[in-house]
Amino acid sequence: MGEIIAQILTKTSGACVMNTDKKLFLLDVDNIQGYIFDTNKLRTIIGASWIIDHINAADDGNTLELLKKNGFGSTIDDIRKHKDFIYSSGGNTKIIFDSFEKAQKFETAITYAYARYEIPVTTYIQTVDDTDFINKTLIPAETALAQKKYSKAFEMDIPASPYFKICELCGKRYASEKSRKSVVCNICKVRYDKGGKKTRLFPDYTFVTNMEKMRLRSDMVALVVMDGNRIGEKIAGLDSIEKLQEFAAALESIIKDAFDLSLDRTFPDEKSACSFGSIRPLIMGGDDLCFIIDAANALNFVNTFTQEIAGQSQNQNGPFGRQGVQFSTGILFAKRNYPFNFAYRIAHSLLRSAKRYSREHKDCSAVDFHFLLTSSGDEIEKVRENEYRYGDHFLTAKPYLASELDSLRTAAVNLRLLSKNKIKSMRKILRLGRYQSTVELLKYAIRMDQAERKKYRDLLNSFGWRKHKGEHFWRTRLLDLAELTDMVRR
Ligand SMILES: [Zn+2]
Repeated sequence: MGEIIAQILTKTSGACVMNTDKKLFLLDVDNIQGYIFDTNKLRTIIGASWIIDHINAADDGNTLELLKKNGFGSTIDDIRKHKDFIYSSGGNTKIIFDSFEKAQKFETAITYAYARYEIPVTTYIQTVDDTDFINKTLIPAETALAQKKYSKAFEMDIPASPYFKICELCGKRYASEKSRKSVVCNICKVRYDKGGKKTRLFPDYTFVTNMEKMRLRSDMVALVVMDGNRIGEKIAGLDSIEKLQEFAAALESIIKDAFDLSLDRTFPDEKSACSFGSIRPLIMGGDDLCFIIDAANALNFVNTFTQEIAGQSQNQNGPFGRQGVQFSTGILFAKRNYPFNFAYRIAHSLLRSAKRYSREHKDCSAVDFHFLLTSSGDEIEKVRENEYRYGDHFLTAKPYLASELDSLRTAAVNLRLLSKNKIKSMRKILRLGRYQSTVELLKYAIRMDQAERKKYRDLLNSFGWRKHKGEHFWRTRLLDLAELTDMVRR
């Protein structure tokens, strides 16, 4: 009886699923941003980001070195082109191994490489079904990995102890005994040291690692967080490993090219010197991008980058399809010395807001931005309610489509025909409601000459109070312009 069942089972499994000995290995770094932004020191942030990217994606990093030992090839090129190496970037690794033993051995070694720096990762090993790799192997494995990730216990806070000092950089781990002068833990010490390393995608460029040395036109800096729209869905739509490999490689290369070109267009002098003081990349992996930039150049740079990346990736028959890769962006403008960990959280909520807006607008690139006036670390929706809403009036029309950035910038430059004080007074005036505020704003036109008056009235007409069909709120874009006047170059 048992034998018959065994035979039936073998037959069914043979007919339905082509199980092989091959195993798909998946690895995700958990909460990359949480790890990178658990400190306020720029150099430690850069170092933390470098360590993850190095282990995950660098030619001489742990992942590729281990694959070399596993017979994936003797040169980096061989390994990267190996049919079982799917990709490893942006904190994700996907590789196929010949056997469970090999996959497990790799899992142990690579997990240790991350654990040395207390970087939490989740891994999963799945049997490969050759009949339909994407739907029968990759997607079930991704689902299982996600479940495993979210069922993990929450991190335990270490209790305060009178005998040990807490690290002053992360405020989380115990400071190591050796360094009495600076109260820093071992992890932050290594991260700080690695902060001086070159950025993987731009090994020939030098970027500042010290916030005080950032070249800023005013004292304002912008923290920019970007990511590609619907990348996960695009990947799920691919139908073979080869296409997946092609997709990952092409994505990294167009991001690199578009970023490089934006550096050239925005900071030509720094680019020709290969040394940058106005911009500092913090995260560049997969489709995730995070950098700090001189506030006055932020819109400019983001605009160039999103346009360039869309242009390079739009191709009916290419891996990204007709629409190409569209990006969503969150930009937080803040004072140079504003704490990064708070800034990052707000910038990320701006990114989420831009993503929502983008989804409502055919997935086109969208941008949301905010000027930090108060030090509240609230979610952006809450801040907007508090600072911009009066009854059924909203003093902002954010987020915007990336395609609107150019006209927004031009209008902000035009608004400079008003004096600084008048621009400053707009916030107060706009709070008076749409009728009275319009009257007050028109008074500014009295002393203008004819050409200026026309320019000004055009601005009020195009950017003043408006209520769109089906919308509950009256909105004006004038305050958005007023905020931007200092942040745009002519
Ligand atoms: Zn620390």
